[in-house]
Amino acid sequence: MKKFKIGLFSGDGIGPEIMQEGVKVLKVIEKISDVEFELISSPFGASAYFTHGNSFPKESISLCDQVDAIIKGPIGLNHEESKKIPIDMQPERGALLPLRRHLDTYANYRPVYLPKELGHFSPLKKEIIGNGIDFIIVRELVGGLYFGSKETGLNSDGKRFVNESLEYDEDQIRNILIKAFELSSTRKGVLHNIHKSNVLKSSVLWNEILDEVALDFPNVHVKNMLVDAAATALCLNPTQFDVMVMENMFGDILSDQGGGILGSLGLMPSACIGPMKAYYEPSHGSAPDIAGKGIANPYSMIGSFAMMLEYSFSMQDEAKKIWSAMQSVFAEGYFTADLSSENSKNKLIGTSEFGDKVAEKLSESL
Ligand code: NAD
Repeated sequence: MKKFKIGLFSGDGIGPEIMQEGVKVLKVIEKISDVEFELISSPFGASAYFTHGNSFPKESISLCDQVDAIIKGPIGLNHEESKKIPIDMQPERGALLPLRRHLDTYANYRPVYLPKELGHFSPLKKEIIGNGIDFIIVRELVGGLYFGSKETGLNSDGKRFVNESLEYDEDQIRNILIKAFELSSTRKGVLHNIHKSNVLKSSVLWNEILDEVALDFPNVHVKNMLVDAAATALCLNPTQFDVMVMENMFGDILSDQGGGILGSLGLMPSACIGPMKAYYEPSHGSAPDIAGKGIANPYSMIGSFAMMLEYSFSMQDEAKKIWSAMQSVFAEGYFTADLSSENSKNKLIGTSEFGDKVAEKLSESL
């Protein structure tokens, strides 16, 4: 029997609620497959700061080195609450970016998927959704503005200033582009390169390297699009996309828009892949506005578990079964509070009910 060790960082806000549902689904997989999962929880995020004085405590850092993969819940507090934590310990700066740096998870995959039958979840018109939305954002995750040098202080006129730089070297750019080309060759062979080379030198270098990498992938057709135009295209014509690749901050922003066109960030799982190890997380934040109410949509978290099975443990069949179990719960007319209902016969369910139904479907399918 295969054994995998998984680190669980539940995080803040709705994190623990949706983590519970992911674990519920994983237990079903364990029951019916030849695999055993050892789950080890550890503190991470704002909650860890309040209990351990550090948002990424030592025990959690060392857990990263002991496990085969990590599942991370969303972290963060609302704007006012965040001020209770020193700036450098606030969850993104104190935990999330250090986790990404520690594991060097440079490749972030964010699927944006909504089949035609569930088109009513989307705020877009039926004719725009067509046969459904199905593309993946490949985001560079450990470079660019978020990881560049930062300086704040007073300038010679005594005015406060800030200086943050967008930094990449050619290897970082090449590595993520190779991942995007590889993915594109397994899908439709159309790769949208999202950039801002009309203004940013970083995009000029990015595009130069893209042309070099493209030579090794003659079957992939590259389409170049400025990031501002891409924001519009995501609303007006999202079905043109299959794989989109972009630098860190562009990916952060456009993937949230991806959630918007699906109808909810609760439909956005993700995989963060490094050379040795990966971690998996919903793309969204800790949703403090709905935390503790039992109404969060756990699709993003259960989907992140499915991505872990696929990418870290080569359990493609089991992952597919999880996706289809979730889709069939929706197809039966169940929906969570963040999603819009097609008609009054549809049934509103909470976080744990959704998890129960997915677990039930999964048990039937295996
Ligand atoms: P958010 O993503 O937490 O929430 C935006 C909106 O989407 C809210 O209305 C929320 O209720 C809704 N939403 C998000 N996930 C949902 C789900 N699974 N089910 C139902 N509704 C869902 O963004 P925010 O409010 O701007 O940020 C809250 C905190 O999260 C901040 O502290 C922010 O820094 C942090 N954050 C963390 C991550 C991360 O952990 N990777 C990512 C983004 C934001």
